[in-house]
Amino acid sequence: MSLLEVDGLTKKFGGLVAVDDFSFEADEGEIVGLIGPNGSGKSTVFNCIMGRYDVTEGSIRFNGSDITDDATHEVVNKGLSRVSQESNPIHEMPVAGNIKLFTLPNKLTSFYGGATDEEIYEYAARIDIEDKLQEMPDELPHADVRRLEIAKSLATEPELMLLDEPFAGMNQAEITELADQIERFRQEGMTMVVVDHNMGGLMDLVDRIVVLNNGDFLAEGTPEEIAENEHVQEAYLAGEGL
Ligand code: ADP
Ligand code: MG
Repeated sequence: MSLLEVDGLTKKFGGLVAVDDFSFEADEGEIVGLIGPNGSGKSTVFNCIMGRYDVTEGSIRFNGSDITDDATHEVVNKGLSRVSQESNPIHEMPVAGNIKLFTLPNKLTSFYGGATDEEIYEYAARIDIEDKLQEMPDELPHADVRRLEIAKSLATEPELMLLDEPFAGMNQAEITELADQIERFRQEGMTMVVVDHNMGGLMDLVDRIVVLNNGDFLAEGTPEEIAENEHVQEAYLAGEGL
């Protein structure tokens, strides 16, 4: 049994089929890459897993339990979290407060008090922003804003983290640093699914890549196999390249 099992997932918006009978799994301790050209349905898959979108057809299981119809807070309480494609900090609150907000419903901390300052420091330290805790989100460089989003996700103590385009807008040095941090999470026991529109940050990071194209499963394999796959190359020809 895989930790996360998405089986025959279909999501329609009116007449638009955004995800069509798509299946994939993530095993415990794995880092799975999920790639596809823009608009291929990657974020929709994450929104369905996280209970943000109702599933049209198919099922989603996590840790053996059926979470297909769960609300977001139930999914989070079961140990799943997601770093969205868009950063969404509360601008009027420093980094520490932004992280603390995410610990309020945390099963491991006091429900009313949220995390202690020490716990918030630890979450920030896991993604190397512990020296930015008193700064306001708008004062941070882009890469640190993204790290704050990851710290918020860590603060819900996930077993499996979904990362939606974590490398977008980063330069090569920032991509390498973040990939190292993600690898560290794996060594701490976390399972991850990392979405990107191309292979860039994933090549040396993930165990396996699943490719979506127009909502359909296109291919699955090691990063090397996917880089050489003709169908994948064709799907990317119209866009910005693999
Ligand atoms: P990706 O993340 O791969 O770029 P998305 O999952 O964001 O792709 O989008 C897949 C398709 O679903 C697109 O055609 C997009 O316009 C559509 N879509 C996504 N979310 C919604 C929504 N809330 N309402 C209507 N259409 C949506
Ligand atoms: Mg997306």
